[in-house]
Amino acid sequence: MKLSRLAIALSRLEGFPSPRPDLEQYVTPADLAARLLFDASLRGDICERRVVDLGCGTGVLAIGASLLGARDVRGVDIDPGALAVARRNAESAGADVQFLQGDIRDESLAGRIGCAETVVMNPPFGAQVPHADRPFIDAALRAAPVVWGIFNEGTLPFLSAYTAGRGEITGLVSARLAIPRTFAFHTRDLHEVGVLVLRIGR
Ligand code: SAH
Repeated sequence: MKLSRLAIALSRLEGFPSPRPDLEQYVTPADLAARLLFDASLRGDICERRVVDLGCGTGVLAIGASLLGARDVRGVDIDPGALAVARRNAESAGADVQFLQGDIRDESLAGRIGCAETVVMNPPFGAQVPHADRPFIDAALRAAPVVWGIFNEGTLPFLSAYTAGRGEITGLVSARLAIPRTFAFHTRDLHEVGVLVLRIGR
């Protein structure tokens, strides 16, 4: 599947019915999700791989991985409402994904997820709940030898230090993330932030 076709397929998916600010529920825009998945695919991390999407929300990354030929795709999220949308989205996109409800901070989750080769994630940046990104990084490094994630661009020095000894940044792409007005504390109709798409190898 071409990058443009993947982005179109992902742009048709439903978003969060009532996004929760405490869980930093923002859908990854289709073009950025497609870009991450395509780069991961070019590095051999998607096709025929077992892929897990941590904090999958409405499923955009998990569904895209399945459409690009991942062998076994699982999506995990704490919010049952988001998972209900994700299941509908997978069905309408013709993707084969198993969605599980769970808290990333729960260490027993690894057993329920099973073995994976690649993690994809757009975790909370920790803007609402300080350090909310950390359990995602920890869980990702436990779950698979390769992690593809979207992070706030300002956090690169922190990420290098936080993953030191456990993982190494083996790929980096800069991108812009457009955040539409979603929550009451948003003061602009559209807010752009610089993000990094990182590949972290264990
Ligand atoms: N990956 C999706 C959603 C990103 S928003 C996408 O790319 O569109 C971040 C997601 O993390 C939300 O769906 C939120 O419900 C989930 N989340 C936040 N804290 C969590 C936790 N402790 N355990 C599991 N999921 C969590």
